Amino acid sequence: MRYISTRGQAPALSFEEVVLTGMASDGGLYVPDEIPTLCHDDLAAMAGLSYAEIAFRVMKPYVNGEIDDATFRGIVEEAYATFSHDAVVPLNQLDANHFLLELFHGPTLAFKDVALQLLGRILDHFLQKRGERAVIMGATSGDTGSAAIEGCRHCDNLDIFILHPYQRVSEVQRRQMTTVLADNVFNVAIEGNFDDAQAMVKASFADQSFLNGTRLVAVNSINWARIMAQIVYYVASAVALGAPHRAVSFCVPSANFGNVFAGYMAKRMGLPVKQFIIATNANDILHRTLADNDFSKQELVATLAPSMDIVVSSNFERLLFEAYERDGASVKALLERFQSEPSALAEAPLARLRESFASHSVDDATILEVIREAHHRTQEILDPHTATGYRAAEQARADAATPVITLATAHPAKFAEAVVKAGFPGVPLPPHMDDLLEREERYTVLPAELSAVQQFVAENRR
Ligand SMILES: *Cc1c(COP(=O)(O)O)cnc(C)c1O
Repeated sequence: MRYISTRGQAPALSFEEVVLTGMASDGGLYVPDEIPTLCHDDLAAMAGLSYAEIAFRVMKPYVNGEIDDATFRGIVEEAYATFSHDAVVPLNQLDANHFLLELFHGPTLAFKDVALQLLGRILDHFLQKRGERAVIMGATSGDTGSAAIEGCRHCDNLDIFILHPYQRVSEVQRRQMTTVLADNVFNVAIEGNFDDAQAMVKASFADQSFLNGTRLVAVNSINWARIMAQIVYYVASAVALGAPHRAVSFCVPSANFGNVFAGYMAKRMGLPVKQFIIATNANDILHRTLADNDFSKQELVATLAPSMDIVVSSNFERLLFEAYERDGASVKALLERFQSEPSALAEAPLARLRESFASHSVDDATILEVIREAHHRTQEILDPHTATGYRAAEQARADAATPVITLATAHPAKFAEAVVKAGFPGVPLPPHMDDLLEREERYTVLPAELSAVQQFVAENRR
């Protein structure tokens, strides 16, 4: 298997190269040149297997023999041993046919751990093999930096620098990052806002000369290995509910589209999925595109579900590539036009998308209403992202007979502000984190100046 770009002009890469590369040189995203299949018997044989074993089987074709089986099994087992629930991603039945897939039992209480616990270890493996070191840089508004840090803290060949806006991150979220005291973890508080931090990371990727040849790696959701890791829980949860013998539907709180795209890959591999429901918050480009063919940027809105606050969904490009039947030139033309003006999909690709996807958008007032209503009906306190999914599943499901699995993307304690606004006293942190507010912190405050940040990275990388 090789990996090819959605814009059709970058060289094809191996798995190892694609994991180390991130974005393609033509501005596109990498996808596998052919989609491996899981036949009826493959799926049937997964019933009762551990999560790690299912993960190994689902991901093996994508790894393409570039990591030997025993080593890859070891990496997968180690990655998922960091989760606090024995089932890794347990299914929680809410009512007769609505299930929550709890993806928040990893070290930082959100679904990004599923991919980043694996990605850090895969990167470290390849770097070790090559005798290289790499630097990871990222910017966070608070919610997702910790998953990258936790994924890399044990990696000998990686140094990670995460920039957050100084004093503009909640205490719990800051401490999830700054209490990781590993020698290869560097938290930088920028005297500016998130956009300043983001701009400095982008500039560092554009001109990497300050690193004197050391590789700079991106672990954001355009990295193919993150998609690959997320395919697994679609397969595992559907098998737990009776696949391949019956179909299920999934409802996915969505932003950059990496999560639900992984579900689509599972379907293309052979998983019987009736419907994907895309839930958005008020930042509803995905819903506008699906429902009204309004593929246009709108002003960013800060919502109660901040991990879904986006203007553009980067991974949607991967789905467009499929909808346009892998015509990279058409995808490139559409996305270049979209940068500067409101756009629309051609009729046939849009019709293809609508065969598999429905969508629904949920505003802040409704998020609060849903948290109260879901608690009243099921005793569960949902985090605000999951709440968008809960409502979207009810509003947009095609039929009541097919089980629908809503992906619970974060633990409610991680987004306590919304839970308190909904009228609850708050949610305790899970036991492994209950001393978070007493732990020692370490971070460096720097001015919002590119040269200061790059000098700090260059001097502190090992
Ligand atoms: C990242 C994130 C999302 C959105 O996932 P995408 O893959 O970007 O669509 C939803 N909920 C939470 C809690 C997240 O952290």
